[in-house]
Amino acid sequence: MNTNAFALRHIGPNENDQIQMLKTIGVDSLDQLINETVPSDIRLKKALHLDAPMTEHDYLLHIHELSKKNKAYKTYIGLGYHPTILPAVIQRNILENPGWYTAYTPYQAEIAQGRLEALLNFQTMITDLTGMEIANASLLDESTAAAEAMSLLFAVRERDQKKAGVNKFFVSENILPQTLSLLETRAIPIGIKLIVGNEATFDFSSEFFGAILQYPGKDGQVTDIKTFISKAQNAQIKVAVAADILSLIKLEAPGKFGADVVLGTTQRFGIPMGYGGPHAAYFATKDAYKRDLPGRIIGVTKDIDGNRALRMALQTREQHIKRDKATSNICTAQVLLAVMASMYAVYHGPKGLKFIADKIHNKATTLAKALEKLGYNQINTSYFDTLQIKTNAKKIKKIAKEKKVNLYYPDSETVTISINETTAIRDINYLISIFAEAAKKETIIISSITEANNIAEALQRQSDFLTLDVFNTYHSETELMRYIKLLERKDLSLNHSMISLGSCTMKLNAASEMLPLSWFKWTNIHPFAPSKQAQGYLTVLKELEDQLTEITGFAATSLQPNSGAQGEFAGLMVIKAYHESRGDHHRNICLIPSSAHGTNPASAVMAGMRVVVTKSTPEGNIDVDDLREKAELHKDNLSCLMVTYPSTHGVYESAIKDITKIIHDHGGQVYMDGANMNAQVGLTNPGNIGADVCHLNLHKTFAIPHGGGGPGVGPICVAKQLAPFLPGNPIKKVGGVKAITAISAAPFGSALVCLISYGYIKMLGAEGLTQATKIAILNANYIKRRLEGYFDTLYSGENGRAAHEMIVDCRAFKVSGIEVTDIAKRLMDYGFHAPTVSFPVAGTLMIEPTESESKAEMDRFCDAMISIRKEIDNASKDDDNNVLKNAPHTLEMLTANEWYFPYSRNTAAYPLDYVKNNKFWPSVRRVDDAYGDRNLICTCAPIEVYMEA
Ligand SMILES: *Cc1c(COP(=O)(O)O)cnc(C)c1O
Repeated sequence: MNTNAFALRHIGPNENDQIQMLKTIGVDSLDQLINETVPSDIRLKKALHLDAPMTEHDYLLHIHELSKKNKAYKTYIGLGYHPTILPAVIQRNILENPGWYTAYTPYQAEIAQGRLEALLNFQTMITDLTGMEIANASLLDESTAAAEAMSLLFAVRERDQKKAGVNKFFVSENILPQTLSLLETRAIPIGIKLIVGNEATFDFSSEFFGAILQYPGKDGQVTDIKTFISKAQNAQIKVAVAADILSLIKLEAPGKFGADVVLGTTQRFGIPMGYGGPHAAYFATKDAYKRDLPGRIIGVTKDIDGNRALRMALQTREQHIKRDKATSNICTAQVLLAVMASMYAVYHGPKGLKFIADKIHNKATTLAKALEKLGYNQINTSYFDTLQIKTNAKKIKKIAKEKKVNLYYPDSETVTISINETTAIRDINYLISIFAEAAKKETIIISSITEANNIAEALQRQSDFLTLDVFNTYHSETELMRYIKLLERKDLSLNHSMISLGSCTMKLNAASEMLPLSWFKWTNIHPFAPSKQAQGYLTVLKELEDQLTEITGFAATSLQPNSGAQGEFAGLMVIKAYHESRGDHHRNICLIPSSAHGTNPASAVMAGMRVVVTKSTPEGNIDVDDLREKAELHKDNLSCLMVTYPSTHGVYESAIKDITKIIHDHGGQVYMDGANMNAQVGLTNPGNIGADVCHLNLHKTFAIPHGGGGPGVGPICVAKQLAPFLPGNPIKKVGGVKAITAISAAPFGSALVCLISYGYIKMLGAEGLTQATKIAILNANYIKRRLEGYFDTLYSGENGRAAHEMIVDCRAFKVSGIEVTDIAKRLMDYGFHAPTVSFPVAGTLMIEPTESESKAEMDRFCDAMISIRKEIDNASKDDDNNVLKNAPHTLEMLTANEWYFPYSRNTAAYPLDYVKNNKFWPSVRRVDDAYGDRNLICTCAPIEVYMEA
């Protein structure tokens, strides 16, 4: 046996453990357990057809070889992506640090104060730079953020008597091409009519509910948003501004002019291009729209001792509550990237950022002057970093290509050049030499950069920004390193203990999968660079598509969606395009079982579908009779069914093939939510159960770390009839032959992190992947067995088995006054992050250990749960001064001189022996959510501000 096989490193329980666990469960072999769990008629007959597994060492050699096929040319393409300098201290201490990248979305606030603070810094940075009142903690990319802005303005128009029913939205022709494409994708299904035009000649007297401008425009010209917004305000047209975050250091904040929404990407704040992503988009708006804000907002509140504490505010889990009434389907965002961008601002501070922005602007003006001297016609009259030159583009392109320089050529007479943070004087001279050669003139050599200001006076920034201490303190490496560490220590991540979040699949994110993410030849490729320069990427992405197509049993894959929810939306839009291609424009009913994840109905509504909810049986399965009835009733208009498999209740429904057949018999397509794919890989697949399309969460099943709430990748895999409609991109040809418009800004979405899933599959191979699935099922059933007699498990398969996760019922403990939240908080004292709380059933915990957890770790978890059960038995409804209600316990309260509680300090802090060896201290006591929502504060304003609130 190769003791160095990656499968042995990835999978937690060793052979001995497995034997013992099987014994505990009461089966003779792993195969017996799998046979009792996964219905035989859906099992695959053959092994997956994938390459033989590589060792970690071989994989790293392989991925290094491939990286050489990428050519990192000097790139001045712009269009929303720029070369940047990621400070090494941030790269090493955040990007390459599992303490940060393996964290989960901060739902358990008491053990997530570190990333919550970093995200609050992000929101503060955004509100400062945009001049807006409130910002969220990231969206997926600039173009989807623009679409969210359009949706928000559309939603709020109904409250505006004058605008109710108005459906026209103006889009500046100077918007980024990928954003225009995405606006089209999102506008049509919900009945918005886009009118694209020149903002300078816009007729304010016609009926529009909103407009969007690019600031500066895609050609580099700084749009006069001041005049536009003031006229729009008079006409009651709401305005969104897509603004380059770095330019805002020199340009006045759109909020000062009255913008309603300001959005964009924070990629320029030190985040590598990575062939398109991931990068955090930002979204800021007026306080009046705070309840319509998509994505997650971090807010300030207090804990029960009155200490300042942070948590996710307002619509936390809004899709689960609002479902088809939700305003957006955003779930996973770009937390890790938002954290990195905020640290870039913390590190540089306002002075440093100003220095960077000035340098870029001065280089652009210096270059412009030199080109003008050579006789070129630079036509931007007011610009930040991008020049627009009217010349023979073909001629320039030929020379630039020879000199390994990427410029952008919007048409045959135009060349644009976007200067960036990495541009040096030698690069400016090199650029000048290209234009000199084209003009057949002696080149001009620049030896110093001259200061200039080529920004229209009315739009120059007057307002200050980032004045708070946090942005003016940590400018040395030692200081920033310690600040990052200070925050990291407040957060419980996978490098401390198991995070058994049901439906979220928190498995190992192996170091070998992560290492290449820092390599220059992967990070430094522009998504619109010529394909010839991206051969390494194109090889990996094509092979990953093929691997996923094989694993799902389908015909084709698109990697474009950058979260699961985006995948849902993409899949539904593909189904819609398919029906329409057959003349079935009326098919718009989407059946969704009541147990579905909240993003499902939210996505269906975005796709312009009408949601019809079908019932569940008391056993948690789809009520097939009800489904048949509803499919029959809506057969003329049936578009599709959205189904999660195994179900969100953690059961392999044996009726799944009947279910898919019913839908097909009534002219519908079947969408499978692939969040639970970790229970299928190698054993069964969506193609095999009769689905037509599924999304996968590569950040769940395929080892991309959660990053504290993103990045994610949500590819869709489709059957043959849907393949022609896979999403395209306006600049780079991708997708099907009848591609729908863009789903994400970049052609391949978040290409950089796709390397992780590629490596995962490459190193596990067919056998390793299948073994991982089997062990995931073994681990879940082991926990189920160990908790028997202490906790009731809701729902199981026909043979009493769980799938890869299980739901434990905590509702009965209400008689002792104990809620499921109390258990979640008490688990922190035992060093564990809670499983999923109250999804998909209120008052329950959903536990998913994944294959990566060892028996020893699961035993500690089960011991903790059993010990908590005993604590519950000692609790009483009449007295809430108990160890559960007071949890979590902080170091501060335990070391205080007074101790008021009816149990010992030792019981509070070290309830089991193992805890002494690996204690995690929650940094605040129980957080008060209601208080925070009543007194919403979403920036890191000085302490007095929230004390007054
Ligand atoms: C995680 C999840 C989603 C949403 O995926 P995101 O990547 O967070 O957008 C959808 N459905 C189910 C069942 C999930 O668990």
